[in-house]
Amino acid sequence: MDSIWDRIRRLFSEPTKSEAGVSPDQNLNDKEAPLSIAIIGSGIGGLSLAIGLLKHNVPFTLYESAAAFSAIGAGVGLGPNALRAMDMIEPRLRKLYDGISTGNTSPEKINDMFDGMMAEPGLGENSGWHGAPVTSPHFTRTSAHRMGLLDIMKSLIPAEMVKFSKRVVDVEQKGEKVFVTFADGETIQVDTVIGCDGIKGRTRKAVLGSRYPDEVHAKYSGVYVYRCLLPMEEAQKLLGPLAGDAKMFMDNGRNLAMYPVEQLKTVNVVWFILDKGTWNSEENTEEVSREYMLSDVEGSDPRLIKFLDFAKPLKWALFHHKYTSTYYSSQICLLGDNAHATTPHQAAGAGQAIEDALLLSSILPLVKKSSQLPKAFQIYEDIRRPRAQKVVDTSEETGRIYMFQDPTIGSDMQKLMVTANERLPWIWLHDLEKDVRTAKERFLAEANSSN
Ligand SMILES: Cc1cc2nc3c(=O)[nH]c(=O)nc-3n(C[C@H](O)[C@H](O)[C@H](O)COP(=O)(O)OP(=O)(O)OC[C@H]3O[C@@H](n4cnc5c(N)ncnc54)[C@H](O)[C@@H]3O)c2cc1C
Repeated sequence: MDSIWDRIRRLFSEPTKSEAGVSPDQNLNDKEAPLSIAIIGSGIGGLSLAIGLLKHNVPFTLYESAAAFSAIGAGVGLGPNALRAMDMIEPRLRKLYDGISTGNTSPEKINDMFDGMMAEPGLGENSGWHGAPVTSPHFTRTSAHRMGLLDIMKSLIPAEMVKFSKRVVDVEQKGEKVFVTFADGETIQVDTVIGCDGIKGRTRKAVLGSRYPDEVHAKYSGVYVYRCLLPMEEAQKLLGPLAGDAKMFMDNGRNLAMYPVEQLKTVNVVWFILDKGTWNSEENTEEVSREYMLSDVEGSDPRLIKFLDFAKPLKWALFHHKYTSTYYSSQICLLGDNAHATTPHQAAGAGQAIEDALLLSSILPLVKKSSQLPKAFQIYEDIRRPRAQKVVDTSEETGRIYMFQDPTIGSDMQKLMVTANERLPWIWLHDLEKDVRTAKERFLAEANSSN
């Protein structure tokens, strides 16, 4: 009978020769025994890493607390950097994504991230503002339904490699092994844990808890959202042809983002509200009355208020990791939101998780023994942390700009759209090939010099 690795080799049948000249198969065979790798969390980050490791024939087991693959929220937009990272991780992933993703309806808007409009009655017309795009020839508008994205990712991963209903409650390194304890009482020992367990992930504490205890818990960003997904016909009844393309309606202290998903069948809507208070709950959602929700958007264009007929009166607080001094501790490493959860104002968080996965799945195949793991993680951190942290910081600023809170821009839409167009290309145009090349070359040079 075929072993799981025979099947994986067939599934990922094109051999990849790395730029550094090390083929993954050759590298795997060089090892005395493959490292045991536990990936915690099967969100976009964990699954991207799993696909990347499979591509390089690196074994792992993925542990997920939920009973099945699941996603919170509806839509997720991906920029060109995220799509390139997908392509580099596994070209078939990118192809599958292209099959489920949705762009703008209007052909002349395929390169527009969104049209910047106003949320005031008249959508800006009464103030003489007729909308302007955030656009770039390097950007193609694409979004997906989160569950659709997880479905295509999971289709590339053999079911045997994922264990569900495994909630991690403790991660600790003792000697050269990392011990992972689950809520069901089982403890496993592995060479390394990659924590992809999201913004509240347990592995963050294992990495930062003793050295940077103040950084373990995510901080409230001062913004909460109401979210809904509605049929395109309903959105069109409200907004006519405006509903078919991504829009950002801006206002003082609030803004509404909307874009089509599910092959234009539905529209994803997020109302962002600048909080006048603080968030005191342990939970990141809070049920409110419908009247409370409507009072948050009072005075906006009635059509935008009507979107909330499709939303539960539920506030979702947006948290982020403002400070993360390191992404690893010895043989435990963080990836995705667990490392750098950001507010979603630049639609860039998932893309950063995919970039992490690209880099880590490029270096881990070169690691021959567990003592080399900290070196690999240091290189990953040196390359990924400054960029991902900048996404966290600039996203917060961007959110404030879209809510007219920047004192130099205020509600001057002309100025605002100039700034909005300048703020994103550094995320989209980043040289990922160089990141991967640098990481591999550095690892090979440093690992060889310490042998
Ligand atoms: C309103 C909103 C809109 C957004 N829009 C965009 C967008 O348009 N574009 C974009 O790029 N990003 C967007 N983001 C950000 C994006 O959703 C995240 O960056 C991305 O989902 C992070 O993926 P992840 O795999 O790191 O974490 P998650 O998706 O949170 O996955 C973590 C996984 O770990 C599991 N887990 C957690 N704890 C444990 C445990 N103890 N044991 C085992 N398993 C565990 C969870 O069940 C989950 O499956 C948005 C975020 C929000 C809140």
